[in-house]
Amino acid sequence: MKLVFATNNVNKLKEVQEMLPNSIELLSLKDIHCFDEIDETETTLEGNARLKASHITAKFVYNCFADDTGLEVESLHGKPGVYSARFAGEPSNSENNMQKLLQELNGKKNRKAQFRTAICLHLDGKQFLFEGICKGEILAEKQGEKGFGYDPIFQPKGYQQSFATMQRNEKNKISHRGLAIEKLVTFLVAYKK
Ligand code: IMP
Repeated sequence: MKLVFATNNVNKLKEVQEMLPNSIELLSLKDIHCFDEIDETETTLEGNARLKASHITAKFVYNCFADDTGLEVESLHGKPGVYSARFAGEPSNSENNMQKLLQELNGKKNRKAQFRTAICLHLDGKQFLFEGICKGEILAEKQGEKGFGYDPIFQPKGYQQSFATMQRNEKNKISHRGLAIEKLVTFLVAYKK
């Protein structure tokens, strides 16, 4: 089965491709010659994922899925959440986002946070939603060089190291996106038209 992942993010494509069986051929937006800017204008992760998947379904004939992820910090009432990529303003800049978050948490005891991924799948005219959550906490300072986004300041629950110190496959096993994709893959493997 050919399946479009509505992204051009090479890191994400690699992450997902590694988890899929060979029977599912993953295509990027570039692969289907979609160069549209799909603005994430909704106020929820699910809304944005649905928006992106709907755009592809409406314009192209492929089955497809789209994701949206946010970092939800408990003492900031779920911020930056759906605005994680642009927390410190646009254009999106991970370093500035991390510094802003560290500043907002300055002096706060509760540093609990979770990454949450919503995936919207459009398959044979039907829509399905999947969710993955990774709980953890925001470190006082950056640790590690790997990964992207908020990885250097996020420490998953049960670990003594940040996401940015982990190998990609190690992170995939416990990450929000990894868990959401796992649910998607389990669903796709069992799916009968
Ligand atoms: P997206 O929806 O996957 O593009 O994620 C939105 C924003 O959340 C990104 O720009 C990153 O700042 C952050 N983010 C998403 N996934 C991760 C992750 O696995 N590690 C660190 N930051 C992430």
